[in-house]
Amino acid sequence: KQKMTEQEYKEKLTPDQYHILREKGTERPFTGEYNTHYENGVYSCAACGNELFKSDQKFDSGCGWPSFDDEIEGAIERKRDTTHGMIRTEIMCSNCGSHLGHVFNDGPTPTGIRHCVNSLSLDFKKDD
Ligand code: FE
Repeated sequence: KQKMTEQEYKEKLTPDQYHILREKGTERPFTGEYNTHYENGVYSCAACGNELFKSDQKFDSGCGWPSFDDEIEGAIERKRDTTHGMIRTEIMCSNCGSHLGHVFNDGPTPTGIRHCVNSLSLDFKKDD
């Protein structure tokens, strides 16, 4: 696993990205650059570059954040989250532990999975 110091993350990331990825923040809905973004390619962790989701796993959930109905195998870790008066499952990058968002079992596609991810937690690389 990659280990960077918090100081290194602060130097690499914008303040908003640092807040979400390293302090488990949430961007305002419908504001992220990847919320309605449907190019072909791969979404990776903005903190460490670990590849997380493929564009064919992305769907429009209408929730205001980029949503994915599956993940690249082994890319995501899950953790029970009981903050803010809710019981949710937090998702984190399996390589660096940075916060991505939450995953729900109410997805409309055949997998039934809805990964709800902050745009600011993601980088995108278009397919060649
Ligand atoms: Fe990462």
